[in-house]
Amino acid sequence: MAERYWNEQIETMPRDEMIKLQSERLVKQIKHVWDNVPYYRKKMEEKGVSPDDIHGIEDLHKLPFLSKTDLRDGYPYGLLAVPLSDCVRIQSTSGTTGKRVVAFYTQNDVDMWEDCVARAITAAGGTKDDVVQVAYGYGLFTGGSGLHGGSHKVGCLTLPMSSGNTERQIQFMIDLGSTILCCTPSYAAYIGETLAEMGYTPDDIKLKAGIFGAEPWTEEMRQQIEKSLGIKAFDIYGLTETSGPGVAFECCEQKGMHINEDNFIAEIIDPETGEPLPDGTKGELVFTSITKEAFPLIRYRTRDICVLSREKCSCGRTLVKMSKPMGRSDDMLIIKGVNVFPSQIETVLIKDFKAAPNYQIIVDRIGTTDTFEIKVELSDDMFSDTIKDVVTLEKKLSADIQQILGIKAKITLVEPKSIPRSEGKAVRVIDKRRLV
Ligand code: ADP
Ligand code: ZN
Repeated sequence: MAERYWNEQIETMPRDEMIKLQSERLVKQIKHVWDNVPYYRKKMEEKGVSPDDIHGIEDLHKLPFLSKTDLRDGYPYGLLAVPLSDCVRIQSTSGTTGKRVVAFYTQNDVDMWEDCVARAITAAGGTKDDVVQVAYGYGLFTGGSGLHGGSHKVGCLTLPMSSGNTERQIQFMIDLGSTILCCTPSYAAYIGETLAEMGYTPDDIKLKAGIFGAEPWTEEMRQQIEKSLGIKAFDIYGLTETSGPGVAFECCEQKGMHINEDNFIAEIIDPETGEPLPDGTKGELVFTSITKEAFPLIRYRTRDICVLSREKCSCGRTLVKMSKPMGRSDDMLIIKGVNVFPSQIETVLIKDFKAAPNYQIIVDRIGTTDTFEIKVELSDDMFSDTIKDVVTLEKKLSADIQQILGIKAKITLVEPKSIPRSEGKAVRVIDKRRLV
């Protein structure tokens, strides 16, 4: 079947034309922030750069970076670039890694965002004939309203379920014939589990695709979700600061997400030095939003670690692709003085379990010593194994974790379904040390 696009001209635009478009938009955007946001003007002056120095994307590196700290400093109106009366919406981050940040939107900003989501839905095979069940949380979080708006734009029949009440989700899915499910991957996994528990199989539902994002997920998790719901699962990426989900989306190749480059210029930098890195190198993703009016972030450091690729994609899109972000630069835990990324632990668990198990990392401090425990849930099959098998698995996990991290963790294998399920973003790390 021929690939379908929401905006073919943009999505398949030759590279030189895209650079020209980005350059024109960048020049205009820099003038806009210089004229309207004193905070930006000051930062640019401090770096000795003015709008006269910016002629195109080749000059991007001259501009100062913006970080989450700047947004917190500017809270709530410090980075607003239009009069408040021109704004029609406020959304907020989920606060995964600290204080929330609020973002403002004009009507044009909302339209641009929804247009990006419409591209994602179309790439996942969505048309006006689809029934889209939006099970991301609604409210300040961008997941619900983002997918909702995009679904309307495509003309799909939209079911604004929000997250939670999982049995009702499944009942509606069956009764109303939902064909596309949108939620976090951890919630999709939970819905898959509940479907089986309710005695249904994927043949009892009409779902054909899922659009899952807002948190990191692995290929193993994709396979599990695809199997449990009988669908093709597509990734979608975004952050509140740059609008919400839809900044990048997966196509039929299911190998990396195309970035909507007509609206967002992507760079990869070395998180330590801030130096731009060439395509194909792993580093921190930085976005410049060149079409946003109300909250136009320039060189915004996402802290998400990934790789950009310009290899030709079989879907025909020419938009650059980003790999799945597998953790943030600030995800890192320091346990007993050692740097630990939750994604390293997940890699070991997937290898030893040959699946993506539910787990939780619990860090605490007794006196001056850190304690480090990993709780991992056994599957039903494993739970019925002999004690000997379970002990062997526990030992193997313990040895593998120590080998990869260099420190020992207490491994606790727990009963099936004993780790709380998430209806939004999964909580994998419980760091009790921060509470004191
Ligand atoms: P918060 O930073 O408080 O979680 P957001 O709700 O805006 O606020 O979430 C944006 C972040 O979610 C991104 O910076 C990224 O770390 C993560 N994220 C979003 N989509 C994906 C995805 N598809 N894969 C991995 N991580 C994602
Ligand atoms: Zn593609």
